[in-house]
Amino acid sequence: MQASNSCDVIVIGAGIIGAMSAWYLQREGRSVTLLEHQQIAHGASQGNAGILAFPEVSPMAAPGVFRKVPGWLLDPLGPLSIRPAYLAQITPWLWRFWRASRPQAYAQSLAAQTQLMHLAQTEMQQVMRERALQSYFRQVGTLDLYDTEASLQAAQKDWDNRAQAGAQFHRVGRTDIDHLQPGLAPQFQHGMFTPDGTQVGNPRQLTQALAQLALQTGAVLTTGHARALSTTPTGAQVHLADGRVLQARTVVVACGAWSKPLAASLGDKVPLDTERGYNTTLPLQGFALQRQLYFNDHAFVVTPLADGIRVGGAVELGGLALPPNFERSRAMLGKAQRFLPQLDIQGGTQWMGFRPSMPDSLPVIGTASATSNVIYAFGHGHLGLTQSAGTARLVADLACQRTPPLALAPFSAARFA
Ligand SMILES: Cc1cc2nc3c(=O)[nH]c(=O)nc-3n(C[C@H](O)[C@H](O)[C@H](O)COP(=O)(O)OP(=O)(O)OC[C@H]3O[C@@H](n4cnc5c(N)ncnc54)[C@H](O)[C@@H]3O)c2cc1C
Repeated sequence: MQASNSCDVIVIGAGIIGAMSAWYLQREGRSVTLLEHQQIAHGASQGNAGILAFPEVSPMAAPGVFRKVPGWLLDPLGPLSIRPAYLAQITPWLWRFWRASRPQAYAQSLAAQTQLMHLAQTEMQQVMRERALQSYFRQVGTLDLYDTEASLQAAQKDWDNRAQAGAQFHRVGRTDIDHLQPGLAPQFQHGMFTPDGTQVGNPRQLTQALAQLALQTGAVLTTGHARALSTTPTGAQVHLADGRVLQARTVVVACGAWSKPLAASLGDKVPLDTERGYNTTLPLQGFALQRQLYFNDHAFVVTPLADGIRVGGAVELGGLALPPNFERSRAMLGKAQRFLPQLDIQGGTQWMGFRPSMPDSLPVIGTASATSNVIYAFGHGHLGLTQSAGTARLVADLACQRTPPLALAPFSAARFA
């Protein structure tokens, strides 16, 4: 089929990864077409918790994690659930997750994640200085809460990893906890405080603002559903569902949880799946929330948005097609009210999002096996907002044929081949 349009770079997907990459590429002097089949920030980037979680370097697939799984699964509304209808499809992913949790594999993922986080933080610090974006970021501090001394002790390895990665935090007892966040239930006597924890006040609007910056500097937004990719001698083609074929020197795949078929069309079979997450955004007047609260033994967070309070988290393995189970949001809300007795839980808006997740917790960032003209940037799991600027830096380096500042082998699409 004849290519109906030709340009320099096509970025497929206008989530936080695609929007940030489009802006970085435009700033490098590349001429970008941003291709999106819905609206900007339609996917996971719309409703996430808004946490810049640079200290969170520990991969989810950690030694011993499988010992906790049966307990979690006993509670259908607990931190982790598997939809029975999706069990067969998710089993190969879980097997790879188990392999990634073995000590040597875990150590490798931890080292790679730590490097990526350093880059992500350095790059995001520059993004935060951009005049048009400054108002989206607020340093509020992060308070991690534990039900018991034993559960804090059990998390010590994670805190050691954070310390080794250079994060600054300190232990807090009840008096400090009361000062940092008045109104917490008495059960919370043990915590950790990270003073420089930063909150994105509205993740959807930040994504829109980034796309807007790219458009203001010359990028073009096109609506269309990318169905497959193919290579040409000088670039790559994007085949759209409506029959159009777009052609570019460089194509960036940033479709979040929907990236798998596009990589497969070039022969890269990546074990990308989704960890579905749920939340409820409450009206701001419901409670005087001071900072980001992590309820670590219950796998959910309460975060202070610019215009609301977001209560959410949890992981549901249920693929992209099954309907949401908003009982999960209600369960977290019920717990949040027990933990913050003055929290008014009326009038909230529920949401489910699809985290794009790889079994080893590392994203896919790098060129396609078949051609260096296609760059993958997807699979950021729980950390896509946090790692967006670092990913965009790597995408821009690859697109401009510069040597990236970190080794990309741990992020290769072929690492599970
Ligand atoms: C409940 C929850 C809380 C979270 N909290 C945080 C947090 O606090 N901090 C953090 O760092 N991360 C958090 N995350 C993770 C973060 O939201 C994701 O990692 C990140 O948004 C992924 O961004 P993305 O751009 O890769 O994907 P998405 O935001 O999903 O964007 C993909 C885009 O591609 C488009 N698209 C898909 N297929 C096609 C196609 N074929 N053709 C054209 N367009 C297509 C989609 O419409 C979408 O706009 C959270 C996630 C969830 C679900």
